[in-house]
Amino acid sequence: MRGTGVFKAILLQENEGKVSAELAELEDSQLPEGDVTVAVDYSTLNYKDGMVLNGVGRLVRNYPHVPGVDFAGRVEDSSHPDYKAGDAVVLTGWRVGEMHWGGYAEKARVKGDWLVPLPEGLSGKRAMAIGTAGFTAMLAVMALEEHGLDPAKGEVLVTGAAGGVGSVAIAILSKLGYPVAASTGRAETHDYLKGLGATSLIDRAEIAEPSGRPLDRERWQACIDSVGGSTLSCVLPQIAYGGSVAAVGLAGGSKLDTTVLPFLLRGVHLLGIDSVMCPLERRKAAWARLVKDLPMDRLDGMINEAKLADLLTLGSDILKGQVRGRVVVDIK
Ligand code: NDP
Repeated sequence: MRGTGVFKAILLQENEGKVSAELAELEDSQLPEGDVTVAVDYSTLNYKDGMVLNGVGRLVRNYPHVPGVDFAGRVEDSSHPDYKAGDAVVLTGWRVGEMHWGGYAEKARVKGDWLVPLPEGLSGKRAMAIGTAGFTAMLAVMALEEHGLDPAKGEVLVTGAAGGVGSVAIAILSKLGYPVAASTGRAETHDYLKGLGATSLIDRAEIAEPSGRPLDRERWQACIDSVGGSTLSCVLPQIAYGGSVAAVGLAGGSKLDTTVLPFLLRGVHLLGIDSVMCPLERRKAAWARLVKDLPMDRLDGMINEAKLADLLTLGSDILKGQVRGRVVVDIK
């Protein structure tokens, strides 16, 4: 289909407040503005893609819309000084797939400033196995490191462990020598999580509700939290003196119920992690770290392969917490 001026894409339409998705054929002339056109090879599925595919959270304001917050591919056409035809590129964030048409299509047109050259030593498929979820896990590890993470200081808790962010976070932390406690609500993922490098497993129910005490037993040196809400409220009083929490997600809720005492009496750091508007230099640093510190065999073990049409159902699955690891969408 590519090269004919016609390409396949997942297209969302809104009718009386209800969003519907279909696999459609579009023409090049329908692509949005941008200085680089990319032939997309792979995309992926993130929690946010699930929200967009199901019209949750009003992330998309204009329909018809092509979703897909991440893609990897080759430059087809460029008037941007940094990119020429044939260059391998990757895109995550910048509200692509929300405000701007995204990667669930054989072609995407974006601003060249949003692209990152595909890192040396990484395939497009593995870049999308990482995707926004894995990239964000790396940003979280980097933030924790900048606040004193130390393999000798005890366990790092990862919540939402069997999800995308959680899976990649465990694999990176394990490679770097940290003991990792993986919290999951799915007991059937225990072997998978141990295979990624988790050294202990806890039931998500154990940390689902705050104790009501402003400080609890110092249980974790740090935490990468995909769940938010009452889980994050429960974990903050359990962080050891001088430790940190990287707040990444809200799979369990967005309301935080805490006191300031973990911050005042234990010097706990609450670190916000944003992957969407992350500046280019930090993006490049995170991708370079992923190539170095994410074991590729463990990344390959997280992959569920999919095709464009599968996204019509996978979007609901991820919102229900039913996707394990990372979905890679083969678009070639
Ligand atoms: P996934 O759906 O892959 O993972 C989320 C995991 O959270 C699930 O696998 C499940 O883990 C757990 N979970 C789901 N629902 C609940 C619940 N109700 N209560 C407790 N735990 C729950 O999503 P991603 O890994 O892609 O994203 C995780 C979160 O991070 C999302 O909220 C997403 O929006 C956010 N995010 C933020 C980014 C940023 O830039 N700040 C970038 C990327 C993601 P298990 O089954 O193991 O318990």
